[in-house]
Formats: sequence, C-alpha cells, structure tokens
Amino acid sequence: MRVCYTNDFHGREPLYERLDELLRLEAPELLILGGDMFPDGQLDDPAGTQGAYVERDFIPRVRRWRAARPALHVACILGNHDWLCTEEVLRAHHEAGDVALLDPRREWSLNGTVFLGYSPTPPTPYWVKDFERLDLRGDVPPEMGGAVWDPHSRSVRAIDPAEHFTATSSIESELSRVIAPQGRWIFVCHSPPYGTHLDRLPRLRSPVGSRAVRRFIEASQPAVTLHGHIHESPLVTGRYFDRLGRTLCINPGQDREMFAVLFDSDDPAGTLRHTVLT
Ligand SMILES: [Zn+2]
Repeated sequence: MRVCYTNDFHGREPLYERLDELLRLEAPELLILGGDMFPDGQLDDPAGTQGAYVERDFIPRVRRWRAARPALHVACILGNHDWLCTEEVLRAHHEAGDVALLDPRREWSLNGTVFLGYSPTPPTPYWVKDFERLDLRGDVPPEMGGAVWDPHSRSVRAIDPAEHFTATSSIESELSRVIAPQGRWIFVCHSPPYGTHLDRLPRLRSPVGSRAVRRFIEASQPAVTLHGHIHESPLVTGRYFDRLGRTLCINPGQDREMFAVLFDSDDPAGTLRHTVLT
C-alpha cells in the first residue's frame, strides 16, 4: 500500500496546496496527517476558530481529495497546538467516515496493516495544554501554566501547572496501557522518541523527544513510527529517519517547502523517500 505522511502544517495554505499537488502526482492509497495541521485557535474561542477551520476548510478539502480519488483513505492524529474541542469535531467526522482519527486503544486497519495513533507530547512553552502530559511518572511539572478546553462548561479554563500535570496521567502511564497489535502495525505519534535523529532543536544540545515514547517503541517494535512536532530536527541532524531495533522511525520535519514522506507499507525502508530532503 502506498502511504504518504506529513505533519505540522499549522493551517498554512501554501503547504496544503503543495499537498493537493503531491496527491495528484503520487496517488497514494493512504494519507496520514501527524498533528498540528490546523491554525492555532483563539484563546477566547477555540471552538469558533480552530474547530470552525476544521469544519469549513479541512474536512471539505479531505472530501475533495477523496472525490477525485475514491480509493484514497485519510487518517490523522492531533498535536500540542490542537484543542480538545477540535478532537470532538474530528471524532464526529471519524464516525461519519470522512477521516480516521487514530487512537491508542482502538485499532484501525487498512489493507492488512494496523494503525494506532497518540497525540500527546511532553510539556512545551506553548499555552494549550490539552495534549501535553508529563513524560515519565514522577517528572517535575513545568512552571509555565496555560489553558485547557473544559468539555462540561464548553469553555477555556486556565490551569495551575503543578495541579494539572500531577492530576493527569503521564505519557508513560498512558502508553503502558496500550496493547501492541498482532502482525504488521504502524504507530503515528506526534512526539518523536528521545535521543534520536528526530528530536533535535537548533542551538540546544539536549534532545527534546519523549523518553516514554522511545521505551514504548523499543518494547513493542512497530514496523514504522511516524512523528512530527520538532520541525527543525531533520535540518539539524541531516536525517529524517532513524531506527530503534527493528522499527523504522520517521520525522519528515516541516518548513516553507512541504516536508512529507512516501513509502510502500510492504517495504517501508526500501521505498522511503522525502519530498525535499535526500
Ligand atoms: Zn508543530
């Protein structure tokens, strides 16, 4: 199965236009979008801004792609710039069959390959905290606060970081409850694994990926893992893929040119190519 994967458009229309063109040229059977695909929602009304973008721009675009090529499937996860109210919108479109919203606990299969998805990242300086978690149990909470979507009041609520992060499960705890599928499977996870070619920022010596994600990949050995989040990493390390045991881990990065990868799920390592990098 021909797979196209990209990530972190942050609502930038020129990147979507390049993706329109890539889908026309390459005709993949599956497009996977790895989180942070939408513009940042406004703090006073994320549902009316980011949620509305998904309804008015993103989903109609997905429908145009699929109308032009009925064999195309589209799957996605969210990222740390996305709000919980946006997940609600995508879940409704998952139920309607427009797009597959990948989940860590519910397997999604296509052409003999199983997919799981996981959106959360370790804490960042950005103020939306819906998809941030402490990486490992017992990590020190960040000092910087932020905001979450409260599904009960359907409004944004400011959080105290110490209180919020200790009351929310860590990435380590959440991934410890994930059951690895039988057979060939692909893990789509916004945060790259710690200490690889995929999690480096310019001018920062230490890696910024997730230790818990790395341990999960090492223990469960999916065929392929697809990441994003650290846009600059391939330009810092010169590599957009790495290996953890038998697993091929990929972070295309993102830039003004559209960074995406294409591969065949029957032979990911032998067919992997990047739209910009070599
Ligand atoms: Zn991003």
